[in-house]
Amino acid sequence: MAPQIVLAREAEPADESDILREQFEYLMEHAARNAQCGCSECRRYLRVRAALLEIFAEPPGSSVQGMGPRLVRAA
Ligand SMILES: [Zn+2]
Repeated sequence: MAPQIVLAREAEPADESDILREQFEYLMEHAARNAQCGCSECRRYLRVRAALLEIFAEPPGSSVQGMGPRLVRAA
């Protein structure tokens, strides 16, 4: 049973990261092309962008500590 669980856990993050990348690229393209038309896609882009840039708004010390666990979980 253990190998099956490991395989499932390895497959999901890879697929999800692809989806996340595609979604963000799609939203970035939309926001660039439509110059923030204000639709739901634009609002999604702003929410994702704010979340991704969140660490840069924090003091350097706390952002390094906050990124450590996230990087380990992503890898
Ligand atoms: Zn839009």
